[in-house]
Amino acid sequence: MSDIWEIFALRYGQNSNRTRRESFLFADDHASPHPIDFYVWVLRNGDRTILVDTGFDVEESKLRGRPILQTPAEMLSDFGLPASSIDTVIVTHMHFDHAGSLHDFRHAKLYVQPLELEYVTGPCMCHQTLRHPYSGEHVVEMVRSLYLGNVEFCDGSREVEPGVEVHLIGGHTRGQQCVRVRTRRGWVVLASDSSHFYENYRRGIPFPIVIDMEETLKGYDILRRLADSDDHIIPGHDPLTRAWYPKIEGGSENIVLLHAEPTV
Ligand SMILES: [Zn+2]
Repeated sequence: MSDIWEIFALRYGQNSNRTRRESFLFADDHASPHPIDFYVWVLRNGDRTILVDTGFDVEESKLRGRPILQTPAEMLSDFGLPASSIDTVIVTHMHFDHAGSLHDFRHAKLYVQPLELEYVTGPCMCHQTLRHPYSGEHVVEMVRSLYLGNVEFCDGSREVEPGVEVHLIGGHTRGQQCVRVRTRRGWVVLASDSSHFYENYRRGIPFPIVIDMEETLKGYDILRRLADSDDHIIPGHDPLTRAWYPKIEGGSENIVLLHAEPTV
Protein backbone atom coordinates (compact mmCIF):
# COMPACT_ATOMS: atom_id res chain seq x y z
CA MET A 1 0.00 0.00 0.00
CA SER A 2 1.39 3.43 -0.89
CA ASP A 3 1.49 6.16 1.73
CA ILE A 4 -0.31 8.66 -0.52
CA TRP A 5 -3.86 9.42 0.59
CA GLU A 6 -6.89 11.24 -0.75
CA ILE A 7 -8.78 13.59 1.56
CA PHE A 8 -12.46 14.45 1.26
CA ALA A 9 -14.13 17.16 3.34
CA LEU A 10 -17.83 16.41 3.93
CA ARG A 11 -19.89 19.34 5.12
CA TYR A 12 -22.84 18.08 7.15
CA GLY A 13 -23.98 21.36 8.69
CA GLN A 14 -23.77 25.13 8.60
CA ASN A 15 -24.81 28.17 10.59
CA SER A 16 -25.15 31.49 8.79
CA ASN A 17 -26.68 33.34 11.71
CA ARG A 18 -23.51 34.49 13.47
CA THR A 19 -21.00 37.34 13.44
CA ARG A 20 -17.21 37.80 13.44
CA ARG A 21 -17.28 38.38 17.20
CA GLU A 22 -18.01 34.64 17.52
CA SER A 23 -15.03 33.66 15.34
CA PHE A 24 -12.20 36.00 16.33
CA LEU A 25 -11.04 37.40 19.65
CA PHE A 26 -10.74 41.20 19.50
CA ALA A 27 -12.43 41.38 16.07
CA ASP A 28 -12.58 45.06 15.09
CA ASP A 29 -15.54 44.56 12.74
CA HIS A 30 -17.26 42.34 15.29
CA ALA A 31 -20.82 42.77 13.97
CA SER A 32 -20.17 41.63 10.38
CA PRO A 33 -21.76 38.32 9.38
CA HIS A 34 -19.49 35.28 9.63
CA PRO A 35 -20.99 31.89 8.72
CA ILE A 36 -19.51 28.62 9.90
CA ASP A 37 -19.47 25.15 8.31
CA PHE A 38 -19.38 21.77 10.08
CA TYR A 39 -17.28 19.03 8.51
CA VAL A 40 -16.07 15.48 8.91
CA TRP A 41 -13.17 14.27 6.78
CA VAL A 42 -12.54 11.00 4.97
CA LEU A 43 -9.00 9.78 4.25
CA ARG A 44 -8.83 7.17 1.51
CA ASN A 45 -5.97 5.05 0.23
CA GLY A 46 -7.21 2.36 -2.14
CA ASP A 47 -9.55 0.21 -0.06
CA ARG A 48 -8.33 1.69 3.22
CA THR A 49 -10.47 4.39 4.84
CA ILE A 50 -9.97 6.50 7.95
CA LEU A 51 -12.67 8.84 9.25
CA VAL A 52 -11.61 12.05 10.99
CA ASP A 53 -14.26 13.10 13.52
CA THR A 54 -17.87 11.99 13.72
CA GLY A 55 -19.74 15.32 13.73
CA PHE A 56 -23.02 15.57 15.59
CA ASP A 57 -26.39 13.94 15.12
CA VAL A 58 -30.03 15.03 15.02
CA GLU A 59 -30.50 14.72 18.79
CA GLU A 60 -27.59 17.03 19.57
CA SER A 61 -28.64 19.40 16.81
CA LYS A 62 -32.09 19.72 18.43
CA LEU A 63 -30.64 20.17 21.91
CA ARG A 64 -28.43 23.02 20.72
CA GLY A 65 -30.83 24.46 18.17
CA ARG A 66 -28.36 23.92 15.35
CA PRO A 67 -29.92 22.24 12.34
CA ILE A 68 -27.78 19.92 10.23
CA LEU A 69 -28.10 19.13 6.53
CA GLN A 70 -27.64 15.38 7.08
CA THR A 71 -26.19 13.24 9.83
CA PRO A 72 -22.54 12.36 9.19
CA ALA A 73 -23.54 8.67 9.02
CA GLU A 74 -26.12 9.44 6.28
CA MET A 75 -23.62 11.52 4.35
CA LEU A 76 -20.98 8.82 4.59
CA SER A 77 -23.48 6.23 3.44
CA ASP A 78 -24.39 8.35 0.37
CA PHE A 79 -20.65 8.60 -0.25
CA GLY A 80 -20.46 4.80 -0.38
CA LEU A 81 -19.21 4.34 3.16
CA PRO A 82 -21.84 2.94 5.53
CA ALA A 83 -20.90 3.65 9.16
CA SER A 84 -20.51 -0.10 9.72
CA SER A 85 -17.67 -0.17 7.16
CA ILE A 86 -15.56 2.39 9.08
CA ASP A 87 -13.06 0.66 11.37
CA THR A 88 -10.76 3.58 12.20
CA VAL A 89 -11.77 7.01 13.49
CA ILE A 90 -9.44 9.81 14.55
CA VAL A 91 -11.23 11.96 17.12
CA THR A 92 -9.49 15.35 16.99
CA HIS A 93 -11.14 16.40 20.25
CA MET A 94 -14.33 15.67 22.13
CA HIS A 95 -16.38 18.84 21.49
CA PHE A 96 -20.00 18.08 20.56
CA ASP A 97 -19.50 18.88 16.87
CA HIS A 98 -16.55 16.48 16.53
CA ALA A 99 -17.39 13.47 18.73
CA GLY A 100 -21.19 13.56 18.50
CA SER A 101 -22.07 10.46 16.51
CA LEU A 102 -19.75 8.02 18.22
CA HIS A 103 -22.62 5.59 18.80
CA ASP A 104 -22.71 5.03 15.02
CA PHE A 105 -19.07 3.88 15.14
CA ARG A 106 -19.03 1.76 18.29
CA HIS A 107 -17.09 -1.06 16.64
CA ALA A 108 -14.36 1.25 15.25
CA LYS A 109 -10.96 1.97 16.80
CA LEU A 110 -10.95 5.53 18.11
CA TYR A 111 -7.66 7.46 18.11
CA VAL A 112 -7.68 10.14 20.78
CA GLN A 113 -5.21 12.03 22.97
CA PRO A 114 -5.12 10.81 26.60
CA LEU A 115 -5.08 14.45 27.73
CA GLU A 116 -8.48 15.00 26.13
CA LEU A 117 -10.07 12.05 27.89
CA GLU A 118 -8.52 13.08 31.21
CA TYR A 119 -9.76 16.63 30.70
CA VAL A 120 -13.38 15.70 29.89
CA THR A 121 -13.65 13.32 32.83
CA GLY A 122 -11.79 15.50 35.33
CA PRO A 123 -12.41 18.46 37.66
CA CYS A 124 -12.35 21.08 34.87
CA MET A 125 -15.79 19.82 33.87
CA CYS A 126 -17.18 21.22 37.14
CA HIS A 127 -17.11 24.60 35.35
CA GLN A 128 -20.12 25.16 33.11
CA THR A 129 -18.09 27.39 30.76
CA LEU A 130 -15.57 24.63 30.10
CA ARG A 131 -18.22 21.90 30.00
CA HIS A 132 -20.55 23.70 27.59
CA PRO A 133 -18.97 22.58 24.26
CA TYR A 134 -19.04 18.93 25.43
CA SER A 135 -21.87 16.47 25.92
CA GLY A 136 -21.86 13.99 28.79
CA GLU A 137 -23.47 11.45 26.43
CA HIS A 138 -20.57 11.71 23.98
CA VAL A 139 -18.04 11.29 26.76
CA VAL A 140 -19.94 8.22 27.99
CA GLU A 141 -19.80 6.80 24.44
CA MET A 142 -16.03 7.25 24.41
CA VAL A 143 -15.72 5.53 27.80
CA ARG A 144 -17.94 2.73 26.46
CA SER A 145 -15.53 2.27 23.54
CA LEU A 146 -12.61 2.33 25.97
CA TYR A 147 -14.15 -0.57 27.90
CA LEU A 148 -14.80 -2.43 24.64
CA GLY A 149 -11.04 -2.19 24.05
CA ASN A 150 -11.56 0.15 21.10
CA VAL A 151 -9.63 3.26 22.16
CA GLU A 152 -6.09 3.88 20.90
CA PHE A 153 -4.31 6.58 22.84
CA CYS A 154 -2.04 8.92 20.88
CA ASP A 155 0.30 10.49 23.39
CA GLY A 156 1.54 13.62 21.62
CA SER A 157 2.56 12.62 18.11
CA ARG A 158 1.76 9.23 16.56
CA GLU A 159 1.63 7.57 13.16
CA VAL A 160 -1.79 6.02 12.61
CA GLU A 161 -0.90 4.50 9.22
CA PRO A 162 2.03 5.25 6.91
CA GLY A 163 1.23 8.74 5.58
CA VAL A 164 -1.22 9.60 8.38
CA GLU A 165 -0.06 11.14 11.65
CA VAL A 166 -1.68 12.92 14.56
CA HIS A 167 -0.04 15.68 16.57
CA LEU A 168 -1.16 17.18 19.87
CA ILE A 169 -1.94 20.90 19.68
CA GLY A 170 -3.40 22.15 22.95
CA GLY A 171 -4.97 25.55 23.39
CA HIS A 172 -8.53 25.10 22.15
CA THR A 173 -8.99 22.07 24.40
CA ARG A 174 -6.47 20.15 26.50
CA GLY A 175 -6.07 17.29 24.06
CA GLN A 176 -6.89 18.75 20.63
CA GLN A 177 -4.92 17.02 17.87
CA CYS A 178 -4.38 17.83 14.20
CA VAL A 179 -4.03 15.23 11.43
CA ARG A 180 -1.11 15.31 8.99
CA VAL A 181 -1.77 13.47 5.73
CA ARG A 182 0.59 12.69 2.87
CA THR A 183 -1.13 13.42 -0.45
CA ARG A 184 -0.12 13.71 -4.07
CA ARG A 185 0.44 17.46 -3.49
CA GLY A 186 2.50 16.99 -0.33
CA TRP A 187 1.75 17.03 3.40
CA VAL A 188 -1.69 18.44 4.10
CA VAL A 189 -2.67 19.22 7.69
CA LEU A 190 -6.26 18.99 8.88
CA ALA A 191 -6.10 21.55 11.66
CA SER A 192 -9.56 20.74 12.98
CA ASP A 193 -10.16 23.26 15.76
CA SER A 194 -6.52 24.19 16.30
CA SER A 195 -7.58 26.74 13.65
CA HIS A 196 -11.31 27.06 12.95
CA PHE A 197 -10.84 29.51 10.07
CA TYR A 198 -8.03 30.49 7.67
CA GLU A 199 -7.81 33.86 9.39
CA ASN A 200 -7.08 32.29 12.79
CA TYR A 201 -3.65 30.93 11.85
CA ARG A 202 -2.86 33.34 9.02
CA ARG A 203 -3.46 36.47 11.13
CA GLY A 204 -2.68 35.00 14.53
CA ILE A 205 -6.11 35.80 15.97
CA PRO A 206 -7.61 32.98 18.06
CA PHE A 207 -11.16 31.69 18.05
CA PRO A 208 -12.88 32.80 21.28
CA ILE A 209 -13.14 29.28 22.79
CA VAL A 210 -9.65 28.94 24.19
CA ILE A 211 -8.35 27.31 27.35
CA ASP A 212 -4.71 28.30 26.82
CA MET A 213 -3.83 31.31 24.69
CA GLU A 214 -0.10 30.58 24.54
CA GLU A 215 -0.69 26.99 23.38
CA THR A 216 -3.22 28.21 20.83
CA LEU A 217 -0.75 30.68 19.30
CA LYS A 218 2.10 28.17 19.42
CA GLY A 219 -0.27 25.75 17.68
CA TYR A 220 -0.41 27.99 14.59
CA ASP A 221 3.38 27.64 14.29
CA ILE A 222 3.13 23.86 14.69
CA LEU A 223 0.54 23.68 11.90
CA ARG A 224 2.88 25.65 9.64
CA ARG A 225 5.82 23.40 10.50
CA LEU A 226 3.84 20.24 9.73
CA ALA A 227 2.27 21.43 6.45
CA ASP A 228 4.13 21.92 3.17
CA SER A 229 2.76 25.48 2.90
CA ASP A 230 -0.09 27.65 4.17
CA ASP A 231 -2.13 26.29 1.28
CA HIS A 232 -1.74 22.85 2.84
CA ILE A 233 -3.46 23.79 6.14
CA ILE A 234 -7.20 23.09 6.25
CA PRO A 235 -9.10 24.78 9.11
CA GLY A 236 -11.87 22.95 10.90
CA HIS A 237 -14.88 25.12 10.07
CA ASP A 238 -14.22 27.56 7.24
CA PRO A 239 -16.81 27.86 4.41
CA LEU A 240 -13.92 29.12 2.21
CA THR A 241 -12.69 25.51 2.00
CA ARG A 242 -15.73 24.67 -0.11
CA ALA A 243 -15.11 27.73 -2.27
CA TRP A 244 -11.40 27.06 -2.73
CA TYR A 245 -11.24 23.28 -3.33
CA PRO A 246 -12.70 21.32 -6.25
CA LYS A 247 -15.81 19.21 -5.94
CA ILE A 248 -16.20 15.70 -7.27
CA GLU A 249 -17.43 15.94 -10.85
CA GLY A 250 -21.20 15.56 -10.77
CA GLY A 251 -21.02 15.02 -7.01
CA SER A 252 -22.47 16.79 -4.00
CA GLU A 253 -21.75 20.48 -3.47
CA ASN A 254 -21.03 19.54 0.15
CA ILE A 255 -17.97 17.42 -0.63
CA VAL A 256 -14.59 18.82 -1.73
CA LEU A 257 -11.21 17.24 -2.49
CA LEU A 258 -8.39 18.43 -0.29
CA HIS A 259 -5.70 16.30 -1.97
CA ALA A 260 -6.24 18.52 -5.04
CA GLU A 261 -4.66 21.95 -5.39
CA PRO A 262 -6.87 24.85 -4.27
CA THR A 263 -8.47 26.63 -7.21
CA VAL A 264 -7.68 30.15 -5.95
ZN1 LIG B 1 -15.51 22.46 16.13
